[in-house]
This record gives sequence, structure tokens and C-alpha cells, in this order.
Amino acid sequence: MSLMSLTAVELGKKIAAGEVSAVEAMKDALAQAKRLDDTYNCYVTVDEEAALREAEAVQQRIAAGELTGPLAGVPVAIKDNMCTEGMLTTCSSKILYNFKPTYTAEAVLNLKKAGAVVIGKTNMDEFAMGSTTETSFFGPTKNPWNPEHVPGGSSGGSCAAVAAEECSFALGSDTGGSIRQPSSFCGVTGLKPTYGTVSRYGLIAYGSSLDQIGPICKDVTDCATVLEAIASHDPKDSTSVHCESYDFTAALRDDVKGLRIGIPRDYFGDGLDAEVKEQILKATKVLEEKGAILEEFDLSLVEYAIPAYYIIASAEASSNLARFDGVKYGYRTRDYNGLHNMYKKSRSEGFGPEVKRRIMLGSFVLSSGYYDAYYLKALKTKALIKQAFDRAFAKYDVILGPAAPTTAPKLGESLSDPIKMYLGDIYTISVNLAGLPGITVPCGLDSKGLPVGMQLIGDCFKEANIIRAAYAFEQSRSYAHCPAAE
Ligand code: GLN
Repeated sequence: MSLMSLTAVELGKKIAAGEVSAVEAMKDALAQAKRLDDTYNCYVTVDEEAALREAEAVQQRIAAGELTGPLAGVPVAIKDNMCTEGMLTTCSSKILYNFKPTYTAEAVLNLKKAGAVVIGKTNMDEFAMGSTTETSFFGPTKNPWNPEHVPGGSSGGSCAAVAAEECSFALGSDTGGSIRQPSSFCGVTGLKPTYGTVSRYGLIAYGSSLDQIGPICKDVTDCATVLEAIASHDPKDSTSVHCESYDFTAALRDDVKGLRIGIPRDYFGDGLDAEVKEQILKATKVLEEKGAILEEFDLSLVEYAIPAYYIIASAEASSNLARFDGVKYGYRTRDYNGLHNMYKKSRSEGFGPEVKRRIMLGSFVLSSGYYDAYYLKALKTKALIKQAFDRAFAKYDVILGPAAPTTAPKLGESLSDPIKMYLGDIYTISVNLAGLPGITVPCGLDSKGLPVGMQLIGDCFKEANIIRAAYAFEQSRSYAHCPAAE
């Protein structure tokens, strides 16, 4: 049995007890990646030598009693949009094909301080733009539950690596659902924290006002434990917040008595796959039987979330991606005629079609003449969406719904119709617009054997409520290992 079939916390306990070493754990992760990654393509980079060296060093510090936390010695995979000093960081884009950062993202540093050992960098949609991990320059990641299907996106590599047990846990980033939706498609648990909880320093920006780093794990206990390790107030990120409490594991209680859960009617209407709906409704029953108080309500404005999001995210992306010009980072075209032509050719050749689409859309909505009609309107819509959530959280502790309208689509089905792909983000996107925390927990399989995820949304800085509800639900079932991992 591979040590990667354990949860991160279970493995950490074994390492702390001296039953296994950090090096043995890393060897198991590397062996599993070697066995499976040709098929699933979860990783852009696996740095075997560095990973084993680091595991060795960590093991010595554990043995000396210097590292005692729950994640000490545990192998972690990092989404390839987080900077790692000296290790390739590509954002799955040709334009960063050779970029080795000179510093490490704060969230990753925090994990290293906790003794976690980085195995490598995971595949993603190029610059985190997409919902399937098919827009990667390095080819798509495949879903470990069925390689004919996508793993979701944009953190598809991280979610698939956790499901395929090619690491103990992973970090992802979520701008409009990129942790929660692929977690749902891959049958793992992913948490997007409240905006400002985890430092974005060293996270290569997509939509800066929406981006947040979060854990992708086998279970809720792991998610709370990892969040506890990565969350910090960071003066290097001006949007980083000093949270009242960083104790997320205290919420791991099998007790939802009296917890008020709101179910938006709008989340269960047309467009929601019948089998997904069935599994989510079954999950609501579990929480109800455990004493939660469930009630349906109208969360209006949901229909405006997608247009508002794609305007705001693209606007920010068009500005953020201006820095990739062939001068400072990564790819530069070979033949060019003067500076302007070099910029133009490097960017034309370096970015893929989805990224170009977003840059054009973003530049358009920010141009004088259209700024008021699109960008400003989208910002107003965002404010109204936040107000709608504020009203809901005056009545409820948690909002429950699906993470995605369907289970994982087949490879090749999504990219031909970008608008349809954007519509798939309906349940996750408003959470980012309002800056809220959300978690996806697996809640069953459809008739094709593909995982379904339930999403629990909390009020800002109330991670404890969603962790509590997710944990209580999870106690009713055991973790479903994906067949490929065994
Ligand atoms: N699918 C959404 C997009 O393409 C969300 C991606 C994300 O959260 N990074 O923008």
C-alpha cells in the first residue's frame, strides 16, 4: 500500500511517530507519479532530486525534534502559478516556459516552515484561465476517475494529483472556482478561503481582486490543517488581512445542531444535471438528520454573476499580463524587427488562444468609451451580489449548493464553445465576486462513475462554519479512492 493513500494528517502522524520517514513518503509519491503521470499529466515539473534532498533535510530536523507540526515530512504538489525559488514556474504557458523565480510564494514558504516537502509543480489552464485544464501549453491533464474526461480547471493538475495519489495534498488557486470545481470533478476536497486570508505574494496574478490560494486534499481535516499552515498576515501583500483567529482545526466537530443552512432555489433550476441534483439533495438530508436547520431562499442576481465576473477578471488580466513582454521573463521570439515588433511577436507566439481572448476582452472593457458601459457596470453588479450575500448571511450560517452543474465533461467537448464553458462556472463565481470562503466536498458518483461535489459557502472570515458543516457531512461516508490510484 502506498503511503500516498493516507490523508496528509494520517501520514504526518506516522512520520512524527517514527513509523515511516519523510524520505520514504517522498519515494512513494515519486513512484506513484512515475507510474501514473504519463497517463494523467498532473505535473509540469517533478524535481526528483530536489524533492529527495529536501525530504532528507526535513527528516533530520524531525529527528532532532525541531519540526513537530502535523505536516512535517508530508509531500505537497504546488500549482504552477505559485513562484518557487529556482524551480520552473510556467503558469502552463509558453511565455513562461523557462521561468525560474528568484523567490518563493509566501503560502509555499509557510508550508515549508511547517515541514511539508514540495514534490513538483502541477498542470493548470494557461494563467488559470479555463475550467478544464485543456488550455495548458503542456497538454491537458486527464481525470483519474476516467482519462476520457477532463479533471476540471484551472487547478486540474493539483486536483488530479491528489485523486491519483501522486502527492499527499496540493495547493491550488481560485479566481472563479478553480479550486472548488476541479475538486468536485476529481472527488477531492478543496477550500477557497476568504479573500485576504492567504497571502497572494508570489502567486502570479490573474484577477488580483479575486485570486486566492487554498488547499486541495483528501478530506476536510487536511484542508483545515493546511489552511492553518498557509494563512498568515503578510505585509508584502497589501490585500492580506490580519484574521482574528488562525485556528481552523477547532471547527472540526461532528456537530451541526442548530446550524442554519440556506439553499438557494436558483441553484437547483434549469441547467443543473439531474444526477448531480440527486446527490446534492441526498447530502442535504444527511445534514438535516444531524440537526442542521435547512431552508430554501432566493439568492437573486446569480444570472448576472457570469457576465460581471468575465468582465472584471478579463480587465484585471489584461493589465496583469502586460508584464509578459519578452524582455523581463520567459519566451522571446527569435526574429524581430525593432522593439515594438519584438513585443508583438513574443506575445503573439507566447500566449495561447484563451489568454489572448481574455486580454482582448479586458482591454476592450477598459477602453475609454466602453469603461462605463461594461467595466463600471460590472463593478456595480459585483457590489449588488455582495449585498445579496450579506442579506442571506443575516439569516444563514452556511449556503449549500452544487459546485458545478454537471460532472466532468469529456476531453475536447468544452473549448469549442467558450461561452458554454463560462456558463459552467455559475455556482462558484459569485463567491469570488463577494470575497467569500467556499469548500467542495465529494458527495457521491453519477451513473458514469464520475464524482459529484457539494459546495458550502460561508460569510467572510467564517471558514469555521463551512469546515464544521463539511466535516459533519463527511463523517457519514468514507473517502472514495479513485480506482486508478490503487
Ligand atoms: N473558469 C474560470 C475562468 O476561466 C475560473 C478560473 C479560476 O478560478 N482561475 O476564469
